[in-house]
Amino acid sequence: MRSSIRRLSLAAIACLAGAGSVAAQQQDFSAVEITTTKLSPTLYMLVGEGGNIGVSAGPDGVYLIDDQYAPLSEKILSAVKAISDKPVRYVVNTHWHGDHTGGNENMGKAGATIIAHDAVRTRMARGQEMPLFKNVVPPAPPAALPVVTFSDKASLHLNGETANLIHVAPAHTDGDVIIHWPASNVIHMGDTFFNGIFPFIDAGSGGKLSGMIEAVETVLALAGDETKIIPGHGPLADRGDLTRFHEMLLTVRERAMAAKSAGQTAEEWAASNPFADLESEWGKGFLKAPLFAKVVYSAL
Ligand SMILES: [Zn+2]
Repeated sequence: MRSSIRRLSLAAIACLAGAGSVAAQQQDFSAVEITTTKLSPTLYMLVGEGGNIGVSAGPDGVYLIDDQYAPLSEKILSAVKAISDKPVRYVVNTHWHGDHTGGNENMGKAGATIIAHDAVRTRMARGQEMPLFKNVVPPAPPAALPVVTFSDKASLHLNGETANLIHVAPAHTDGDVIIHWPASNVIHMGDTFFNGIFPFIDAGSGGKLSGMIEAVETVLALAGDETKIIPGHGPLADRGDLTRFHEMLLTVRERAMAAKSAGQTAEEWAASNPFADLESEWGKGFLKAPLFAKVVYSAL
């Protein structure tokens, strides 16, 4: 339990830090182990350090949803090898953050085609600033950029089933994509869902709290009681976990809107620690309640 909490907090820090940042480069990945969970005859979830990875493996080959950090590519590929001896043909990025796209360059060199929303390529190519965390992410090397991009929806027809790639209104960022496999009854939500921890909303990348709530509602409409939901961070989830996350976000938005209409600044409001009562359930990651209040206020 302790090590999984530690992993959550490292993952969250890493999420904030991005791919090329000093924090990511200094992080020690040597002790990271990749664990594999089978979700359906074709789908798997890999957990290491950074965003949770989805794997589809079957007669047509392998494709990944997200690829964590560059120093983990070899470990990720050996975990994939244990599932299938076929090559990785595609990687879908759920959004641009470096803990989800850091392996792109290695995967591309190994022969994979990178697929993402248009905004992911734009933001990776340009480099990003994250002022809330005084962090600058440099432009990604050209080989790490998505080669196939889309604006709204795309589908992958491989391994005997369809994966629907669905862009949602700006939520965690403005380039978020969720992946739905109706036949396997599995959904990968990227960072529109942090299971059991306060989520980061990257307002500097166009993220919005209301968009995150809408994305969650989109998935609640798609999911049934048996649906397996892969969150961007945290353990494998079900509809009940996502419902609790939804309720927390509604509470959070209501309090933030009230503070805003009362004319409070982000600093004043955060100083009052408005989410202190939520800390024990949701504060196990990097974002503690006062900082989460600032994140929320910036994303209203
Ligand atoms: Zn993220």
